[in-house]
Amino acid sequence: MRVVPWVLATSLLAAGTLQAAPRATAIPDKAVAAATQLREHALASNLGYEITASLTTEVGPRLAGSEADARAVKWAEAKFKALGYDKVWLEEVRFPKWERRSEHASVVGTNAQPLALIALGGSPAGTVEAEVVRFADLAALEAAPAGSLVGKIAFIDHRMERARDGAGYGMGSKVRSRGPSAAIRAGAAAYLMRSAGTDSHRNPHTGITRFDAGLTPVPSAALATPDADQLTRLLALGPVRVRMALDCGWNGEAVSHNVVGEIRGKSKPQEVVLIGGHLDSWDPGTGAIDDGAGVGLTMAAGALIGQMRQRPARTIRVVAFANEEQGLYGGKAYAATHVNDIRKHQLAAESDFGAGRIYAFRSGAPEYAQGAVKQIAEVLAPLGIAHTPGEGGPGPDISPFAERGMAWASLRQDGTDYFDYHHTPDDTLDKIDPRALAQNVAAYAVFAYLAASADGDFGSDLKAVKPPQE
Ligand code: ZN
Ligand code: ZN
Repeated sequence: MRVVPWVLATSLLAAGTLQAAPRATAIPDKAVAAATQLREHALASNLGYEITASLTTEVGPRLAGSEADARAVKWAEAKFKALGYDKVWLEEVRFPKWERRSEHASVVGTNAQPLALIALGGSPAGTVEAEVVRFADLAALEAAPAGSLVGKIAFIDHRMERARDGAGYGMGSKVRSRGPSAAIRAGAAAYLMRSAGTDSHRNPHTGITRFDAGLTPVPSAALATPDADQLTRLLALGPVRVRMALDCGWNGEAVSHNVVGEIRGKSKPQEVVLIGGHLDSWDPGTGAIDDGAGVGLTMAAGALIGQMRQRPARTIRVVAFANEEQGLYGGKAYAATHVNDIRKHQLAAESDFGAGRIYAFRSGAPEYAQGAVKQIAEVLAPLGIAHTPGEGGPGPDISPFAERGMAWASLRQDGTDYFDYHHTPDDTLDKIDPRALAQNVAAYAVFAYLAASADGDFGSDLKAVKPPQE
């Protein structure tokens, strides 16, 4: 009985192989050997860290649409050129401009004391003094009856869970994006949340929020986690009044740019493998882990490929995307601009999850290209990277294009401590381990080089697909 299924399986396999053979994507041995050398060279290089240090030191924080954002664009253009990229250009991206000027909060009355908070991106300005009503989670606030919070400040005390893959941010970011609208529906005059973060420092975490159409926005802010603890303890003693004063808001339209650099391919230069990160950052820190690292490590990976004697067949395109933080404006603009060239985009991967080591790799490419994906995984394996089909998705800025059908890959970073620093004053260069960043550069260089050397494609074509969320 054992023999029959084996024979059956073998003959099916043979038939399948015969059918699939003309389209099966594969990577030549010579390219695998070159990528193995590239991996070791990149591991020993400090280039990714140097580029990240340059951006975060010379430009510092770069809120989308700010003067510093414009300087970051100039920095990226000059850096691509200095790194020897063959072609460098800018693509315009427009979006509404949001400004932060100041924010203060304090408990008033018997237990008067200051509170550490930060306005959420998109919040209007305003000063509110009112009683605080605490909700354990988003569902509890969403269940509050209309009108039940008139003249009150709604406070969601959801505690975000720490996880290597950042799973806790799913709910953490929902509390930030949906909480304000739920507060307004219940009649609240302002919105407070425990920061979407996993640290215990007095550093509140900012991030974009949005208000549902038809609602009048109210001042919305995040408390540092120890301040959320403090407020909760005070509430246990009795009613608490808080005064919060936010000066921030929308101010016209801004123009920024996606900055693109290319290392020209040897024999199929019109086809590209795309890697990148986002150039903008939030303003309290210097945007080192989010996402100076992503820009630095992908720029370095491309530059190291450019220095090789044996260039890959296809072009390596590195994109420093504009304004990811406030709504993927750069990623959406890129997809709109290049949609007719979707088939020329062989495979894409974005780095936007800090600077921790990469531990897993996969690609959403179709079955006929999975042999090549496996070959890439084999060269990544000595870096401590596992091939994990079925886990992970495209990074944020490439997701609008992946939704149209661009083939993508995911190089997942260890984000265990990412949300200790994310969107806070603590997002600074010292949080990056140069050796971990070099491992990232090695992984992206190997990935891009091999994808650009493959015989056959990875399935990019105009189609409506829903890629998994990273
Ligand atoms: Zn980011
Ligand atoms: Zn971010």
